[in-house]
Amino acid sequence: MSDCIFCKIIRKEIPARIIYEDDEVLAFDDIRPQAPVHTLIIPRKHLASLKEIGQEEASLLGRILIRAAEIARLKGIDHSGYRVVVNTGPDSGQEVFHIHFHVLGGRRLGWPPG
Ligand code: AMP
Ligand code: ZN
Repeated sequence: MSDCIFCKIIRKEIPARIIYEDDEVLAFDDIRPQAPVHTLIIPRKHLASLKEIGQEEASLLGRILIRAAEIARLKGIDHSGYRVVVNTGPDSGQEVFHIHFHVLGGRRLGWPPG
């Protein structure tokens, strides 16, 4: 997707603080952090949102969640706790239509979310 901002980060056309990457996913810090730790994990494959996900993506999504746990360990929030969020569609406030998993932590997170 030529005009997708996260695809541009994958292609290194725009900078990001990348903290992990492999042949399948990329993780980078959110540009507007909502918590002391706020990292986004994205698949290299452009998928717009959870709404577009099918059975063929089941193992990819599973591996992304495992990566989320690894990133939480890397960031030192695995013991204090964290939240993994996938905003989907208008009511969630989804802004970027390349599926991404927010990993948030480093402070007490409110519930219910705003
Ligand atoms: P969402 O509302 O779930 O679509 O979240 C999109 C997230 O992407 C927001 O938290 C933004 O701050 C973040 N974001 C947008 N552009 C960039 C960028 N260039 N680098 C890092 N994070 C970004
Ligand atoms: Zn994309």
